[in-house]
Amino acid sequence: MAGKNSQTLNFDSESSGDESNNSGIETQPAKRRRILDWHYVKSYCTKQEAEEFIKSDNQWVYKGRYHTSDAEVLNYVCRSVDSCSSKCHVMWLLLDNTSVILEKTTDKHDHVSIPKTGIEAATKSEIKKLLNSGVTQPKLILRSLMGLDVKVPTKTQLTTF
Ligand SMILES: [Zn+2]
Repeated sequence: MAGKNSQTLNFDSESSGDESNNSGIETQPAKRRRILDWHYVKSYCTKQEAEEFIKSDNQWVYKGRYHTSDAEVLNYVCRSVDSCSSKCHVMWLLLDNTSVILEKTTDKHDHVSIPKTGIEAATKSEIKKLLNSGVTQPKLILRSLMGLDVKVPTKTQLTTF
């Protein structure tokens, strides 16, 4: 059905018309913007409805809006990491204000999720053992861990344990 409705959206909302001729100095290779593959998700009667959905989807952060020649687009990126391939946008035609379209990239989330604490599992279990045996002072815990064959966490990691 809805195959490739390739839109030519302009993602360079910000200064990109940079054709200054810096003689000699090679400008660093401009980050190639990946051509994103959008697929249609849903359409709404109003922008608000679409925004409500995005809010409830709980994965997105508003990243700005831009215009194409005939549409306006609200851009959203992954809330974990900006550069994640998973993005979505809400767009509506400027002439036809009655139909708001929500689209997502076909790419799945590829952000690297950040672990809650940086303490390794093996270390954690040793800390638990220490806590159980009554060692609760961070200093003592760290010292005991150093004698073991585990990765010793930093003090801050320990306090968030
Ligand atoms: Zn993501």
